[in-house]
Order: sequence, then structure tokens, then C-alpha cells
Amino acid sequence: MQVRLLPTSEQAVALEATLRACNEAATWASGVAFEKNVKNNFALREHTYHQIKARWGLGAQAAQRVIKKACDAYATLKSALKAGNLGRPGSKRYRRAVEKPVAFRPQGAQPYDDRMLSWQIDQRRISIWTTAGRMRDVAFTAAPEQLATLALHRKGESDLVCRDGMWFLNATCDVPDAAPNNEPVDFLGVDLGIINIATTSDGQIMAGRELNRIRARERTLRTKLQKKNTPSARRRLKKRRRKEARRARDINHKIAKHVVVEAERTARGIALEDLTGIRERVRLRKPQRATHSSWSFAQLGQFIACKARRAGVPVVHVDPAYTSRTCAECGHIDKANRVSQARFACRSCGFVDHADRNSSRNIRAKAWVLWRRGAHSTAPAPLLEPACGAGRKRSTTASGARCASLGL
Ligand SMILES: [Zn+2]
Repeated sequence: MQVRLLPTSEQAVALEATLRACNEAATWASGVAFEKNVKNNFALREHTYHQIKARWGLGAQAAQRVIKKACDAYATLKSALKAGNLGRPGSKRYRRAVEKPVAFRPQGAQPYDDRMLSWQIDQRRISIWTTAGRMRDVAFTAAPEQLATLALHRKGESDLVCRDGMWFLNATCDVPDAAPNNEPVDFLGVDLGIINIATTSDGQIMAGRELNRIRARERTLRTKLQKKNTPSARRRLKKRRRKEARRARDINHKIAKHVVVEAERTARGIALEDLTGIRERVRLRKPQRATHSSWSFAQLGQFIACKARRAGVPVVHVDPAYTSRTCAECGHIDKANRVSQARFACRSCGFVDHADRNSSRNIRAKAWVLWRRGAHSTAPAPLLEPACGAGRKRSTTASGARCASLGL
């Protein structure tokens, strides 16, 4: 779970100096590990521990975290190489990754354990170790349900992160899953698309026209900045991109939450299309293509799966073939059934409906058939990265407007 810190300017200076020192030390330790080919935590400690404490003024705990961070980076690299994520052995990318030590950005995230960081959740304060000594009384903001989750389930390490001048702590929370509902009374079908990001078989449309207007505006602005191509334009571009990603993530969280809460409340399962290949499936004119591929349906699927598992709601993925051209009333399949992007009109029985709603009803029906044939919930196993941060900061004016446009 991510909470935002609200450090005073002095506290921010101390946090920044701490991150810098930790990352410099980690980069140095990583160099030693590379040179001596010692990539095991305990072994590397022997070569680096005292130097790190002396040279960067890190405490015992911090020094150990830093060494572990360097070792973990090599472990991650090793598995990435093994999985073929960096190309074949001998390729340019592969060589670039193995021929020099791992380096850390000056502002890279730093893990904190319970001895370096303590939480006073009721007061919304933390006490955190820095190179300038222990800082008590650093404020943070969190929504009431975030505070409850922190109080009940926070466990182990937290990462200190600085992004665009804002400070965050990513706290690990071990939230137990609810008992799975193995006898859903029905399924809630969800159709995912470009014009309407999600439409349910109950007829609810989430993130439609308003959102696309904002995204179109962002895109024009980005194109302008790209053309400029000055250092400041590049900086602004990067910032906007990240902001856009945060916004999309926030929207995905809201949609996922809404879908899961609705399914849980009505004791239903969730039916989704199998998302692999969604890009190939929809052929679009160029401007729309950009809109489409820039929406992370995979992320939305992950969020839904993650929240569903937590709530014990079964999820079934169905084959998306013909869901948009099949009549949900009589089952007649015809390409011509889909009159326009938005309208569905059956050539056989005359049934008329909103096109996405018709699709979501078909998805629902397919899932129900699969379930009765003995399908199991396909909500995948939890990801290593906390994909589902149980919501972020809310109720800024922009997000209020967004809720309205989401129809939530
Ligand atoms: Zn029909």
C-alpha cells in the first residue's frame, strides 16, 4: 500500500540526503560484488559493511539493507537473464547487462525494516531513520480504509520512494483473502473497450466519453512537446507521462473496485474476456489506435483479479470470439448485427441494445456455461509487486470530476 508523506522542507532535505547516500553506497557495494564476484548477502557483507558505515555514515541496519539491495539487484538480473528478458546470451542487450556492475539511481527506492521505521498510524506519523539522525513526527496522509489496513495487516519492509518531488512509502500489507464463493448465483459480465473502458451486463458504463476527451487533450499536448524537443520540454513530457499513468492507474483501481464490490454484494462471479490479444482483435483508425493501445487493460484485469481474490469472488475468463456480434437475446451471430460502434440491432429477432452492454451479456452467458461445466476461478496467483495498493489518495478536485465521468 502506498501512502504519501508530508515532510517539512527540512525533513525533505534529510530524506533526500538519505536516499542519495544509500544509493551511492549501494552502487559502490554492487561494484565490489561485481569485481569480486561475490553476490551473496552474507559474503558481500564481509567486504563492504564497515566501509559503508564509515564512508556514508549509515547505521548498522541501513548498511545491511543497502548490501542486501545490491545482492537482490543481481538476483533479479540473473532471473531476468534466465527468463530471456534481455535477449539471447551474446546479444547487445544481454552483454550490456552483464558486462558492468548494477548501478542505482540517486533517487532509487530504499527499503526500510521495522528497526529503521516505525508507524504511529492513529496520529498519521512515522518515525524514520535518516543520515541526519532519527526523524520523529513525519506526517503522512491516508484514507480511513488505508489506515485500517495498515493497522491490521502491515508487515515487514516498506520502500521509501521519491517521485516528481513527492515522497511516498510503499508498505507491505499481508491481507488475508476471504473464503472463496464456490457457488455464485450468476456472473457479472464485463466488456472492455476503447470508447467505454468497461461496461457491465447490468448496463453500467464506466469511464466513457469524458475520459476520452481528457486523454485526447493530453495526447495533443504531448505531440506539441515532442515537437519542441528542448530539455525543459522533455522534462515536462516525462512528468506528464507519469501523471497520465497515475491517472489511468487510479481509474483502473476505481473500475476494479466497483466491479468487485457489485459482484460480491450480489453473490455473483465476474466474467471477463480473455485479454491476451485485445490489441489485435480491434482494428481501428489511426487516432483511435493510439488511444486504445495506451489504455492498460492488462492492469485493469490484474486489479480486478487481485481485488476479487481478496473478496472471494470467482473470476472466469471467456473466449472473446463473437461476443460483440452475437445477439444476447436469441443467439443469432452476424457481423451486421453491430450497426455502429455504439448500437446493436439483431438481424434475426430485432432486439436492440447498447452494443457494449450486449457484448457484456454474452460474456456473462459464456462464463456461466463454463462455470456449470466445472470451470474454476481463473484469478491468477498474487504478483510479487503489490499490484493492488487498495486505493490511493482521493478527493482532489480532478479526481472528483473523474468519478463523475466514470459514472461512479
Ligand atoms: Zn436476436
